[in-house]
Amino acid sequence: MLPAALFSFAIINHHINSTAAAKVASAKVLKVNSTAKATYHASKGYIYKNATLTKKIHNAKNYRQTIFYASKQATVKKSNGKTAVYYYITDKKNAVRGYIWRGNLVKAEVPMSQKSLVKLINRSPDMNPVESIQSLKPINYEAHEAAFDLAYNVFHFSPTSMFKNNQATVYTVDPELSQHVQNAMTKWNEALGETVFKLGSKNNYTLRISFGNGAKENWDGLYDGKQIYVDKSHYNDAKYPLGYIRPQLAAKFTTSQYWDGVIAHELGHTLGLDHTGYQADLMYASSSSGNMIAKYKWAKPVEKSSTGLDGTEMAAISDRDLNRAKLTKILGYW
Ligand SMILES: [Zn+2]
Repeated sequence: MLPAALFSFAIINHHINSTAAAKVASAKVLKVNSTAKATYHASKGYIYKNATLTKKIHNAKNYRQTIFYASKQATVKKSNGKTAVYYYITDKKNAVRGYIWRGNLVKAEVPMSQKSLVKLINRSPDMNPVESIQSLKPINYEAHEAAFDLAYNVFHFSPTSMFKNNQATVYTVDPELSQHVQNAMTKWNEALGETVFKLGSKNNYTLRISFGNGAKENWDGLYDGKQIYVDKSHYNDAKYPLGYIRPQLAAKFTTSQYWDGVIAHELGHTLGLDHTGYQADLMYASSSSGNMIAKYKWAKPVEKSSTGLDGTEMAAISDRDLNRAKLTKILGYW
């Protein structure tokens, strides 16, 4: 008996539905005006095929992320006698379109086109996101993250758990590194004008720094997306790096400064900065080969530093490094 009962219920249900649909009274369109072109999000309600409101074609809640463009409006007298204004909206591809009650629309900001953004980037200094690049509407950074990444060699390297309220808590496992870590943190904090790196403890940290073995892969510092390593054999070699370079260059900096620079450079990676070809940058690398992201390739400095030292040897944050770090903050990488 049960299957049959269900079957008949389904028939009745269908019948009720179609009767109800047929009974929708149409609204009377009083007037249609063009409106100033504007963009909206449709948060709730229905989108109707036409201004007589007889046919619902879309449920607005399915299109919450869609940007709709309105160009005309219809004032209608509904079947209940009330007057209301409906906007004719279309999405960018003109695939979703129709009339929706004005009260269900919220003004939307529209990002600039990728073309305009790239134009703006190309007019500003290479690899240096100056003020004009840092002061766009927030929606542009959301919409064009990949374009910013590629233009400035930046990337979301760090897990979101590393930076809480724009702050990483740093723990140094090896006491020998403590002073270098402190110096490197201070450099970034002072440059940015805020405490982006603060000291933690064994039981409270989001970023760990320890010795590692870089001999095989030939690194002095490494950030693997989780923690920072400093090569132990080079660190323990008192002659490194000064004893291995031209004396004229070696005279311009100290071993201690070099290790400050190595750690500051790795901290730069945690902020989302990949290498540049500008020798004076803290984030300089002699070649683009190790980059995750590179606007262009280089195998010699794009621009040499005035001292002949590279940014790590100088342990100094350049204007370019700083602007890139400000950009990665805006992009939400730290
Ligand atoms: Zn590096």
